[in-house]
Amino acid sequence: MLLLILPLLLTAWNGEKMTRTNAEWRAKLGEKRYQVMREAGQENSFLGQYVFTNEKGIYLCAACKLALFDSKDKTFLGCGWPTFSKPIFPKNVYYEEDRRMGFKRYQVLCRKCDSHLGHVFKEESLRYCINSCCLTLDAHSDISFVE
Ligand SMILES: [Zn+2]
Repeated sequence: MLLLILPLLLTAWNGEKMTRTNAEWRAKLGEKRYQVMREAGQENSFLGQYVFTNEKGIYLCAACKLALFDSKDKTFLGCGWPTFSKPIFPKNVYYEEDRRMGFKRYQVLCRKCDSHLGHVFKEESLRYCINSCCLTLDAHSDISFVE
């Protein structure tokens, strides 16, 4: 018997959007995720599920499962949130200016479902600080990339 193990096929965003009403998002995500992902909230520092994990895999959007970040791009900088140097595909996220804290910063959003994910900061290099609750780690070991 031939046993085929199919790799997880990761694709860049294909133009498909996922839309829901606020009530549907609230039911799907639960209250905590809803506040962070749909109302641009922020989870408490150092308490998120993925702050300290070193597990290998692909981080998917917790709302729509679009691939967002690769564990090989995860760095620990002690800022209290999972931190990545870049998204897995540039077009899987987009950015919006955010001045709610009284200074200019850029929030990172999922291209497929428009959920808030966290913020990106430009220092010597880019630093993506993402809320753990916006992510689902898919610990898949065999991955193929398709641009
Ligand atoms: Zn999404």
